[in-house]
Amino acid sequence: MTTKLLEVNNLKQYFPIKGGVFGRTVNQVKAVDDITFHVNEGETLSIVGESGCGKSTTGRAVLRLDDPTSGEINFDGENLLQLNKRQMREKRKDLQIIFQDPYASINPRQTVRQVLEEAMAIQNVLPKSERLDKILELLDIVGLGPHQLDRFPHEFSGGQRQRVGIARALAVDPKFIICDESVSALDVSIQAQILNLLKQLQREYHLTYLFIAHDLGVVRHISDRVAVMYLGNIVEIGEKQEIFDNPKHPYTKSLLSAIPVPEPDRKQERIVLKGDVPSPIDPPSGCRFHTRCPFATEKCKNEVPKLRKTETMTGTHQAACHYIEDIESGRKQPNY
Ligand code: SF4
Repeated sequence: MTTKLLEVNNLKQYFPIKGGVFGRTVNQVKAVDDITFHVNEGETLSIVGESGCGKSTTGRAVLRLDDPTSGEINFDGENLLQLNKRQMREKRKDLQIIFQDPYASINPRQTVRQVLEEAMAIQNVLPKSERLDKILELLDIVGLGPHQLDRFPHEFSGGQRQRVGIARALAVDPKFIICDESVSALDVSIQAQILNLLKQLQREYHLTYLFIAHDLGVVRHISDRVAVMYLGNIVEIGEKQEIFDNPKHPYTKSLLSAIPVPEPDRKQERIVLKGDVPSPIDPPSGCRFHTRCPFATEKCKNEVPKLRKTETMTGTHQAACHYIEDIESGRKQPNY
């Protein structure tokens, strides 16, 4: 039986824009605007989308690194938005994050030993006398050795630093880890090593991941399910195979059409979107994708499409488009 470890309901994250002599709020950046999703225990849900779509903001909101504007974040049966600061600090033992740039998130003046020791001390993990054994075990788990214990971050390669970042997240025995573009800055071969390490750790320690990425190749490798975000909304969500083999939303199709195909003889239609992503300060009305969508109509400008399932979708697959059936049957043609 699958258990939902994280349930996010109607999450909104708006950031105020201050202006004028009195520094009043003159507008808002609607970075995340009413999204709902869940992550099952032991699975990896990836959130994918272009930069600025709200995927990292979602991760930060789940951890309450930024306090959300509204919504509900239930973790292990508890609404995180109702916890006070102290309770939330304690809760972070269960919810950890691995950032894109471990160099920026690890104190450059601390050795690996100090970094891991500090992570455990903050959450009161083990008596001080037993922590060194745990630190050595963690280094071994992430593929580093005891000889690296007293090295500083600058003495490591990018991949090794990310291993330190993973060890730091694991130091407090979390249940849930947010990987925020955690392999984006690494070379492809190192990316593969880190992804394999994350998968191995997930199996061994029954970890649950929210994996945030813009690279669909990486997402394909690591995910069980995928959520596609566009301008603060989830436009499609479902099992990985469904999203990759049976995409329904025109935006998902355009993202997938940009992935290079390994077989040179196989023809793939590239869907090139017009224009840039609009500003989240004043997002388009109706379907937010209508300014770039080749199928857009007046209805798209006026009515917000809801996530829904059609007869040709399986599992938990849903997409937010008024014309899924018409596009699929060919009744609706792109207006290029
Ligand atoms: Fe395109 Fe309209 Fe569907 Fe939005 S609702 S994705 S604009 S066809």
